[in-house]
Amino acid sequence: MGDEKVVLLSHEIDEQTPFYGKGTSVKLKQDKSIRKGDSCNTMHWSFYNHTGTHVDVPLHFLEKGASVTDLRPEEWIFSKVLLVEVTDTETPRLVKVEDLKGAKDCELLLIRTGYEKYRGSKSYLKDSLGLHPELADWLKTECPSIRAVGIDSISISNIKNRELGRMAHKSFLENNILLIEDMKLSPLGEAPDRVIIAPLLVKEADGAPCTVFGIYV
Ligand SMILES: [Zn+2]
Repeated sequence: MGDEKVVLLSHEIDEQTPFYGKGTSVKLKQDKSIRKGDSCNTMHWSFYNHTGTHVDVPLHFLEKGASVTDLRPEEWIFSKVLLVEVTDTETPRLVKVEDLKGAKDCELLLIRTGYEKYRGSKSYLKDSLGLHPELADWLKTECPSIRAVGIDSISISNIKNRELGRMAHKSFLENNILLIEDMKLSPLGEAPDRVIIAPLLVKEADGAPCTVFGIYV
């Protein structure tokens, strides 16, 4: 190990993990237990695949889109990372092109809205900033290396603008831009030099919880 500093950009999954719309809550149960006389500890987990910090891949909105296990290992590593702040008092609203004017080319764009501080309250589910569908095409032109966008809100779809939210998912995923939702961006000072997204490798999944590492070299 050199002088690398690593920060985790994922929230821990627990039974309080918020879920979007009609999703289901996380259940974590002890299965075997040393304390109760079993030879080892094991657990039984159940959760929706879009739980906690998670990635949406093209199959989520496109019938023939790539699944989590279709992506090549190197597609989960990002070396050009841009962090932008889009904080606003007007809620709910969508992040638009005007908010990102001047964005430099990058492989991964992290959008910090500050909504993470409301995680655990109703506001996080209802008022979190979403992304406007027009952003995807615009980013593809302005930032030709773009491969993923991450945000610290429950979804890129604001629940009060669901139709626009569906359109936004579709347009990002059609442009092969992965979406990382419900990220933990508060530990970041500046953009990390490298980001690794490590999804749970479930065959043909349209999305999966992921551990995201931000690395400063
Ligand atoms: Zn999702």
